[in-house]
Formats: sequence, C-alpha cells, structure tokens
Amino acid sequence: MEEYDVIVAGSGIGGSLAAAGAAKGGAKVLLLDRNDYSQAGKKTNWGWVCGDAVAKTHVDFVRDELGLKLAEPVLDVAVEGVQVLSPDMTRKFQFEGAGFSLDRPKFAKVLVDFAKKSGAEYRPNCEVGGPVVEDGKVAGVYGRDEKGEQFQYRAKITIDALGIASTIRRKLPQNNYIENTVSTDDIESTGRYIASFEVKEEDINYYDPKNALIHLNQQLAPGGYGWVFPKSGKRVNIGLGVEKKSLEIRNSKLNKTDTLHTLIDQYIEWNRAVTNLKLDDQDKNGKGYWSVTVRRQFDSLVYPGYMGAGDSMAMPNPISAGGIGPAMSSGAIAGKIAAEAIAAGDTSMDFLWKYNLRYNEVYGNKTAGLEVFRIYLQSLNNELINYGMSKFLTKEEAIAISYGNVPEISIASAFTKVLSGISNINAFKELLYAVKTMKEMNETYANYPKDPSSFGAWKAKVNAKMHEVKERFKPNPI
Ligand SMILES: Cc1cc2nc3c(=O)[nH]c(=O)nc-3n(C[C@H](O)[C@H](O)[C@H](O)COP(=O)(O)OP(=O)(O)OC[C@H]3O[C@@H](n4cnc5c(N)ncnc54)[C@H](O)[C@@H]3O)c2cc1C
Repeated sequence: MEEYDVIVAGSGIGGSLAAAGAAKGGAKVLLLDRNDYSQAGKKTNWGWVCGDAVAKTHVDFVRDELGLKLAEPVLDVAVEGVQVLSPDMTRKFQFEGAGFSLDRPKFAKVLVDFAKKSGAEYRPNCEVGGPVVEDGKVAGVYGRDEKGEQFQYRAKITIDALGIASTIRRKLPQNNYIENTVSTDDIESTGRYIASFEVKEEDINYYDPKNALIHLNQQLAPGGYGWVFPKSGKRVNIGLGVEKKSLEIRNSKLNKTDTLHTLIDQYIEWNRAVTNLKLDDQDKNGKGYWSVTVRRQFDSLVYPGYMGAGDSMAMPNPISAGGIGPAMSSGAIAGKIAAEAIAAGDTSMDFLWKYNLRYNEVYGNKTAGLEVFRIYLQSLNNELINYGMSKFLTKEEAIAISYGNVPEISIASAFTKVLSGISNINAFKELLYAVKTMKEMNETYANYPKDPSSFGAWKAKVNAKMHEVKERFKPNPI
C-alpha cells in the first residue's frame, strides 16, 4: 500500500491535466488508467469516441495556467467557429469563436507525456474499482492491475477523472454534494464515424472545410443534433446525438423503429455534400458510440478527500455537449488547487471548496442557464425551431444565449417582434420564460456559496427551479 499526496484516476483529458497541475505545484502524484500507453485516453472499446472539436479559448486557458503548448498534428484542423443550422436549412447562426478539430489519440498521448514531464507517476493498465472511504472521507482508490492483482493506493486527495461512468463517483457514500448517477433525461446517446469521403455537391451548409456544422433536426436527431466537423486529408467526423425520450416519442408518432445506429446512417444519406464514406480505422477509432451528459456540472465538485474533473462531473456544455474544453479547464484548476491544499497542509472540504468557486468563475457559472435553454429547445418541433430561428431571435441574441449570456429581450423589443409578424405568441412567451429563467440561474450561480455551510439551501433552490423547468417543457420532437 503506497501513500501519495494526490491520486488522479483516469488519464484522459481532465485527468492528465489535473496530474500535471498537481505535480507542477509540488505534490507527489499518481496517475492511474486502465489503458496501456498506446491507447491512452481511449474512452471505451469503441475508441476515443468524440466529435473532436474544441474552442481555442480552452486551449489558451490551459496554456496560460499550465504552460502547455499544443500544435499540429494534435490540432489537426483549425476552424473559424461552430455554425448551427435550422431544420429547414434556411437559418444559420455562428456559435462559439475559432477552434480546432483535434486528433484525439495523439492529443491524449501528448497530455499523458505532459503529466509525466511535470513529475506525475503514471501507471497504465490499472482498472480502478472504486474509492477507499474511511470515516466518510475518500482516502484513496482500489482496483486491479494488469496481472489481475488487487491494489490499494492511498492519498490525501483523490481526483476523479474517470469520465461519465466513473466507478469512484458511483460508489461514493450517498451525500448531498456529489450525485452518484445522472438522470437519463440529461444524457445524449451519441455516435460518430471518422471517414474519408467524396464531394457529392459543393454546399457549405452540409460540409464546410472552415467550420464545424451542427444540424438541428428533430426528425433526424430527436432531442439532439447531427454534426459534420472537418478533419485533415479530406476526412470528416460525422455523427449524431439523440435523447432517449425524444427518440421514443418520435418513433411512436412516425410509426418507426429507428435507433441511434440507423439514424446516423440516415443522416449521412441525407447529407448532400458527402458521399462514398470510407471509415478511417487508424487506431481502431473509425466508428464508435458513447454517451455524453447535457446538464450543468454537479452542484459541488468536491467531497471530503475528493475532487472531480471533466465528464465524471457532468461538465459537457448542456447545449453543444462540448466537454473537451471543460475537461481541460477543470483538470488544470483541480490539479493546481489540490497542490495548494497539500502545500498548505489543509485538505479539508473548506479548502477544496476553492475549486468550486474557481471553476464556476472560469466556466461553470453559465451552465445551469444553458441547461434551461437545452430543455426548452427539446420541447420544440422542427416547425417551431425554424420559426423561432427566423422570427424570435436575432443572430446576436442567439449568439449571446450560446455563450450563456442572457440577451435583454426587453418588453419594447418583444413588442417590435410581435408587430413584425410573430403569429405564434404562445411559443414566443415560452421563449421569454426560458430566457428569464436562464437569467435567474445565472444570478443564482453568481451567488454560489462561498463555503460548504450554506450549500444545502442553495442547492435546494437550484433543484426546485430546474424541476419547474422540466415540468413546463416536455420533450416534443414531432
Ligand atoms: C460522440 C461524442 C461526441 C463528442 N463530441 C465532442 C466535441 O466535438 N467537442 C467536445 O468538446 N466534446 C465532445 N464530446 C465530449 C468529450 O468527448 C468529453 O467531454 C471528454 O472526453 C471528457 O474528457 P474526460 O477526461 O473527462 O473523460 P474521458 O475522455 O472519458 O477519459 C476518462 C479516462 O478514464 C479512463 N477510465 C475510465 N474508467 C476507468 C477505470 N475504471 N479505471 C481506470 N481508468 C478508467 C478511460 O480509459 C479514459 O482514459 C463528445 C462525446 C461523445 C460521446
């Protein structure tokens, strides 16, 4: 049984950066992962399943925090932004600024190398079974190594970066800080191909070498969206996400039996620009399916002796499902704060609470508002999305929403919109409710508790509001 300052479980994006951050801060760090180095960061047997797109702001954040400089070939292709298209393909909003399409397998190795170079001890081939809990505090992890032998490692702080299915989070004692599971309503089932292709028809609404495209369409991707992201060498990352209830409703109303798998193939067929797809099975990463959460991150990211980063804490953006950036930023912040706690000789919950505050300041403050908007969006059928994207919101307002900034849809501007021909007043009222609630959520997060003592009351307020939103907006894809 060995003793560390910090154990980081999972050497994916969040984990490798947490290990680097903690080691750079002087802590004795152990980084564990089930995979061999040659498969570092691989999420599942299906590979490094991801759309691979990340905003430049996150890449810059980690460069500034930890000094990590990324370049080609990890940053496979630069994109100008993410464009979201309406179901009828007549409206296109530019969301998020410049970014990159990553080579995920190479990216993961660079991050593990960075953690090692920063001083972390890396042990691959270790399956983490769960947390060691003593007196209500996480004191390390147990699991099995490559020979099948049991291990137990102890640490003052354990950072959970095991991804969405984390065996540590799921086995924490029931508590008011970290939930063990995520509701299926807040999960998207997703899949994607990485493939070379031929151009059938030049049309940048279907494939754009300079932009990541998102297609909203409740028939093709109920409760989610389809995407076509460019990759180098005339390849695409093309895929789709669906929400379970929305898919069931859509199938029953259309009398169909589609699954995620059949929908991806239909989406590819629907795409006018790409044809003759040939899977790029380098690294056995050509085709894969996995899940991603679309809720706000867990209300607290810390528990006694424990911090979580990335997908283990449900951090992907509730609207875009982009989780690479949040995993990068949270990993860097968690690692640094863990090292500060070790240096201060204070690993109490009160000290680790800084992580909640800092993550919210950097990214987390806006995600509850975005979750509200995601739930609202899932209640709209194609007709209403088309209508809303042409009549309800200006491009500026839509962009503001995508960044989690609530636009001022003032009474005067609402009145102008009504005069300009909105016939569906009810649907517009629902949008106003969603925007008002986003604003309330942003204010609630601006008042995130400064220490654990007032967390219970704050959390109850967030849960009550989110319950109200879920009761008001039910999935209604068709
Ligand atoms: C189809 C799809 C498309 C997506 N597209 C995008 C996109 O375009 N842009 C974007 O920003 N995000 C996207 N995401 C989300 C993004 O991929 C994740 O948010 C990101 O990978 C999270 O990183 P992480 O480090 O938290 O977790 P992970 O990448 O899941 O890493 C977890 C690590 O822990 C290891 N591990 C897990 N369990 C154990 C165990 N028991 N013992 C030991 N090791 C273990 C795994 O092997 C892995 O190395 C997408 C997700 C999916 C599924």
